[in-house]
Amino acid sequence: FIFYRNVPTSVGKVIFVRAKHRLQTFAFKETAPKRVALRSTLEKGSAVASETLDTSLSSIEAAYDSTFLPLSGSTSSSSDVSVTADQQGDWSERKWIVNESALMELFTTCHTCGVAIEEKTTVSNGSMIKVEWTCLNQHKGMWRSCPEVRGMPENNLVSSAAIIFTGTTETEIKEWADLINLQLPKKTSYYALQSTYLIPVVHQAYTDMQELILSELQETACSGGHTDIGGDARSDSPGYSAKYTTYSFMDDLTKKIIMSDLIQVSEASSSPTMEAVGFRRGLDCLLDSGVCVDVVTTDRHPSIQKIMREPYPNLRHQFDPWHVAKGIISSKKKENQDLQPWVKSLGNHFWWSCSSCGGDEKVERRWTSILHHVCGIHRWEDDGQEYQCYHEDLDEEQQRRKKWLANDCSAYNALKAVVLDKYLLKDLNQLTLFKHTGGLEVFHSSMLKYAEKRRHYSYVTMQARIQLSVLDHNHNVGRQHDSTEFGEYSRYSTSWPLPLF
Ligand SMILES: [Zn+2]
Ligand SMILES: [Zn+2]
Repeated sequence: FIFYRNVPTSVGKVIFVRAKHRLQTFAFKETAPKRVALRSTLEKGSAVASETLDTSLSSIEAAYDSTFLPLSGSTSSSSDVSVTADQQGDWSERKWIVNESALMELFTTCHTCGVAIEEKTTVSNGSMIKVEWTCLNQHKGMWRSCPEVRGMPENNLVSSAAIIFTGTTETEIKEWADLINLQLPKKTSYYALQSTYLIPVVHQAYTDMQELILSELQETACSGGHTDIGGDARSDSPGYSAKYTTYSFMDDLTKKIIMSDLIQVSEASSSPTMEAVGFRRGLDCLLDSGVCVDVVTTDRHPSIQKIMREPYPNLRHQFDPWHVAKGIISSKKKENQDLQPWVKSLGNHFWWSCSSCGGDEKVERRWTSILHHVCGIHRWEDDGQEYQCYHEDLDEEQQRRKKWLANDCSAYNALKAVVLDKYLLKDLNQLTLFKHTGGLEVFHSSMLKYAEKRRHYSYVTMQARIQLSVLDHNHNVGRQHDSTEFGEYSRYSTSWPLPLF
């Protein structure tokens, strides 16, 4: 019954509609008879009230617990309940911060006969306050600040849901609330609500979304199409101490996360091997679901390379050029001063070689051409054939100004070692399709909103938070960037702006 309209756009309506539906069917069935009985009691009461009371009290009537409010023109009890549920205690209903002293001013006179209230008690339950009174004429009344469902104040659920659904934590919200003495559910209630209602709802919404995505990909496969995917891991802390790793696959076409799996260290032999476990498990799951995977793009993690060679020889494995380029740049950056001016060009050139090769082995010739270029040589012969740089001719001034390298200096030799690195040359063939996993990096950084690395979560909570970040990402993916161009991710455009040299 919560989160129906005006939801935080980041999480997406889908989950809120789910939450509403699930909790409504779960919670309202059993309370329906009781609610109807209470309502008929109040219908009498409020009819009397409207006749006898001063109009200034109409505001109190409007603030009555929704459960008790009569619904005009409706006689069917079952539809009454669902309409009430939709309208009251809804996520989107406006709520107010009210000082207790101001609230109590409303309970000085009897709501039925208007005489002074003799006795009143207030009871609170988390975010809800309940006032019960008896007047001098022995009328009894009760008022609640929000509806209750199965004895649970709805606002306790709403406020707890808002905590996890926005990716924040109970601790942070509590600190804020304590400062102004705002009443919220206690920590234990929050965790109980989270595990009873919120996590199952998140899980359900995630499962539904994933089934939908997989069925679309199955249809693609049935009609002879294929799906190219990118995969990458995200650990809660670097290297050997990580407790959790999330391995996610993204559809290259839609940029949606089609599979995301949380691995804990106990499932792998050590922290670094969690990545391989997640990769394998996720890929198997996609293939078992009938998705026709063609190209898989990852970083050059050796264990992933090994897995791709053995159980999946029919899949084409590509490397993300950004990961490789980053490796190239960092490998020789510090070693040689004379090489410094060329480091950036090296990255650009690598990028260009992969992006312009059109998917074939021309990539190697393009890449290694830089060894001539850095010496100021733009035309050369190789095996009796003449080659030239791919850039436009340089004028005399450009040729004169540039600090070319001598082909016997140490900087040149250092560069040569990088360019002709045998592992790199071997891997070049897996860079020719110029596939990226940059979208996954973007996803991982937005995941921080729901699961900060410095915080510890239990497995189920962590899983729910990751599922929330996937829901968030998939819901918003079409709205952020439609471009798959070079400039889509700021790290690309700022690190290696064109032109190439
Ligand atoms: Zn009275
Ligand atoms: Zn050149």
